[in-house]
Amino acid sequence: MDKLPKCEANYVALSPLTFLKRAAAVYSNRASVIHRGVRFTWRQTYERCCRLASALNSLNIVHNDVVSVLAPNIPALYEMHFAVPMAGAVLNAINTRLDAKTIATILKHSEAKIFFIDYEFVPVARDALRLLMASLLQADAAASMPLVVVIDDIDTPTGIRLGELEYEALVSQGNPRFVLEEITDELSPIALNYTSGTTSAPKGVVYSHRGAYLSTLSLILGWGMQTEPVYLWSLPMFHCNGWTFTWGVAARGGTNVCIRSTTAAEMYDAIYTHGVTHMCCAPIVFNILLDAKPHERRRLSAPVEILTGGAPPPAALLERIESLGFHVVHAYGLTEATGPALVCEWQKKWDRFSTEEKAALKARQGISILTLADVDVKDPATMKSVARDGVEMGEIVLRGSSIMKGYLKDEKATSEAFRGGWFFTGDVGVIHPDGYVEIKDRSKDVIISGGENISSVEVEGALYKHLDVVEAAVVAMPHPVWGESPCAFIKLREAAAAKEAEIIQHCRKNLPHFMVPKVVKFMDELPKTSTGKIQKFQLRAVARTFEAPVEKRRSTPPQRKRHDRRQNQEQVLAMSRL
Ligand code: ADP
Repeated sequence: MDKLPKCEANYVALSPLTFLKRAAAVYSNRASVIHRGVRFTWRQTYERCCRLASALNSLNIVHNDVVSVLAPNIPALYEMHFAVPMAGAVLNAINTRLDAKTIATILKHSEAKIFFIDYEFVPVARDALRLLMASLLQADAAASMPLVVVIDDIDTPTGIRLGELEYEALVSQGNPRFVLEEITDELSPIALNYTSGTTSAPKGVVYSHRGAYLSTLSLILGWGMQTEPVYLWSLPMFHCNGWTFTWGVAARGGTNVCIRSTTAAEMYDAIYTHGVTHMCCAPIVFNILLDAKPHERRRLSAPVEILTGGAPPPAALLERIESLGFHVVHAYGLTEATGPALVCEWQKKWDRFSTEEKAALKARQGISILTLADVDVKDPATMKSVARDGVEMGEIVLRGSSIMKGYLKDEKATSEAFRGGWFFTGDVGVIHPDGYVEIKDRSKDVIISGGENISSVEVEGALYKHLDVVEAAVVAMPHPVWGESPCAFIKLREAAAAKEAEIIQHCRKNLPHFMVPKVVKFMDELPKTSTGKIQKFQLRAVARTFEAPVEKRRSTPPQRKRHDRRQNQEQVLAMSRL
């Protein structure tokens, strides 16, 4: 059997680029991309990508060159997900919420050869280019400035430019009969994505064609996305390439509905007008949908499938969004894992539970997607797996084909992330008896009170049960007796008037005593990263200046007793043993 050939007929490098050619052949006249008044078919999208790829080659873009882009969810950014790698290059989609300094750092670090800029982002991009120029001159670096191409509004052109080149002009100059050079090495890079940096400075995460292909397929399967979906771009395409659905919608012959911003009006309008069937978003977007003004809200004529992740979705919020007719699947992932790595795969036997119980099960982060060989929760010091009891905490580790190639030009960080055959996520979690993983915290965020670990996610989950709470973040605060105790930062719903004592009282009803925040601070806005994640390090710095009030009642350190854990956790454990 060993003598049988490995040849071009039975071995082809895996790449998501094959999805586009197939969509153009099979769904040629079906709508591929819709953006306001603009509508393309798959045949047109394929042709436009061929043109752009050939235009990039004629601008001297060659194998492994980095092409950066700063744009919201517009057709051009979708097309670049295919055209840039078709030209042999690596796509670097930059987060549009970053400031000029960080954008300049990314352009310099990635040595971008071309920088595509959406017209709305010309001011910040201009500042970034100035900073880049100054830094290159200062460093006397060999790297040169990137070529700049502005992407004007495709629906209603504005005429805004920064230099000579414009996207549509480039596309029209390209060759529609461009022939894609076959990818020979499936591990060659396809995309470069910088992490949002909740725990350290942003790092450049490199994906391979193979990793992108396999992750795309397993997310389609994990989410159960059927053919011809109508997909709303409520998740930024710059976020892990839209959790691979940039490539995935082509693989299913779907329709991409592009929107420039995730306002309630734009999302409801797109859902209603185009019959959206699927969308991805962080749990924070649920609040936008829930808080829509009556004139913005539209009734859903059919359930809309939501894949959520990026931050823990509190069970109470899951319950509320599903009551509007959305059906949520919860996933967990990170940039280094090409987006979602775990999905809370629903099991039919859970259908019989109450709405509240179902939401509690769904709030768990889940089991590995098919491209991952394994997931585990380990003690990082001993590499010993934790008990599957839903209680013992450790670091979540992953291994498999969705994991990045490594961090660009950072061998040290790469080798620190890959240890003993595993990728270390920096997230703290538990494994339930049914094998489902539940995240409890980032390693740096765990609160240790009298030797007992308190999961800030658990405390936040209780806070979100209070109807006045829109956003909550819990961090450690110094405690004169127990070392640390929880401090809560809260954003209240508009016109809500809950006071500190009421919130603490609410937590007492829902949490063991030692987990109840000792101080509650109200804020108009919680500090967030460019991807909308709450920046706990900022809150921690504030909380460090507080001191928890000492209570007379408690004289012994809190113990990890099963009866002490919150009732909800007991329920989840019991259900997961069934
Ligand atoms: P950064 O690590 O810089 O924040 P990412 O955008 O890659 O950048 O964020 C990944 C992190 O987001 C994960 O390590 C985890 O802490 C958090 N996260 C992602 N999905 C979930 C989820 N479903 N529940 C809880 N936390 C999540």
